[in-house]
Amino acid sequence: MRNRIYLCLAHMSGKEMDFIKEAFDTNWVVPMGPNVNGFEKDLEEFVNKRVGRPPLDKKVVGLSAGTAAVHLALIACGVQPGDEVIVQSFTFCASSHPITYLGATPVFVDSEPDSWNIDPDLMEEAIKDRIAKTGKKPKAIIPVALYGMPYKIDRIMEIANRYDIPVIEDGAEGFGSLFNGQSLGTFGEYGVLSFNGNKMITTSGGGALICPDAEKARRILWYATQARESYPYYQHETIGYNYRMSNICAGIGRGQMTVLDEHINHHKHVQALYCEYLKDVKGIAMHGNPGPEFDSNFWLCTATIDPDLRIKGQENAYAQVITGAVGGAAGVTHAAASAVTDCQPNDNVEALRVALDAANIEARPLWKPMHKQPVYRNAPAYINGVSEGLFKVGICLPAGPYVSDDDVRYICDNIKDAIV
Ligand SMILES: *Cc1c(COP(=O)(O)O)cnc(C)c1O
Repeated sequence: MRNRIYLCLAHMSGKEMDFIKEAFDTNWVVPMGPNVNGFEKDLEEFVNKRVGRPPLDKKVVGLSAGTAAVHLALIACGVQPGDEVIVQSFTFCASSHPITYLGATPVFVDSEPDSWNIDPDLMEEAIKDRIAKTGKKPKAIIPVALYGMPYKIDRIMEIANRYDIPVIEDGAEGFGSLFNGQSLGTFGEYGVLSFNGNKMITTSGGGALICPDAEKARRILWYATQARESYPYYQHETIGYNYRMSNICAGIGRGQMTVLDEHINHHKHVQALYCEYLKDVKGIAMHGNPGPEFDSNFWLCTATIDPDLRIKGQENAYAQVITGAVGGAAGVTHAAASAVTDCQPNDNVEALRVALDAANIEARPLWKPMHKQPVYRNAPAYINGVSEGLFKVGICLPAGPYVSDDDVRYICDNIKDAIV
């Protein structure tokens, strides 16, 4: 039996232990230290690079999670209870949950079909309508690089600048993705990175915030370390957070930076193989870069399945309540109340997922749009049907460093075999 093929497994360079050992040997087993500084410097060098143009001068702050980075970016943009924040609906919950931590309200905006990310025209419509309805501008805009694909950041920035609303780029899945040769996360006011176990690189768990300058980076760092005032004792005048990255995790990150380019190239290579092996399969389409400005890292490779394509066993899809949950570190989950919900992937997509699972291949539906999540049922949403339509027909396929050429061949053979 083959080993199970996972969507995206962490892959070590072998150098991580050297950095961790150094942290132990020098007794820097705390949430700061030489590895944190070194990792931040490596990250700055990477994200500031531009193809054919001089580098940028953004600063990066290492944090305990990408979710923490979203939270602190919102605070830095002045988000307060009662405020509204525009966020892409087609995303993982970490983009929108921190808005609610602050007592603010997410305003969900649907996607456009090219990139699958926030639709700039609908975004402007949402801004105008929120101003008309509430008398206030949204406090920030969060586009998301879903599966690594860049959003239309040129149009997003043009609109955001016109209304003078700061952009927080959620590049958690898009580390190393470029738009016009420039790293995602460096166009807006802030940029979020994640180093969770299944992302492009990992620190076991961790994240970072790309900041526009040293002063704003210092402010983020201050919030991330409990917002302390300089007295000989603890003096608190502002609520802070314990969000700093640990020096041990940063050691893993420094090791991972030595294989980052290799990881990105491998993800792109796997994407190209899927396109090659599936190009003649009717009813299955890979989601690729929609134009020359786009350079996705293909963190996950995604495909859409024609609703008319018949998959073996699809008449039995959703017959059973699922136990467990999707997600690498899903942790404790609630038992599902029913086998179905009012918004779910088509039967043929679920049947394909089950067929691949039986062949020891992990596949997953696309992320269910936030405006369809029960927890956000009362949030305002500007909808065009694109994300819901994609959720019904889409599937994520394995793409990580451990996925070999032979694995992609095996996955594609299994997809072909599953078709009636
Ligand atoms: C992973 C992820 C994050 C951040 O997640 P952490 O697990 O907290 O590092 C944020 N947004 C998106 C879209 C993500 O996929």
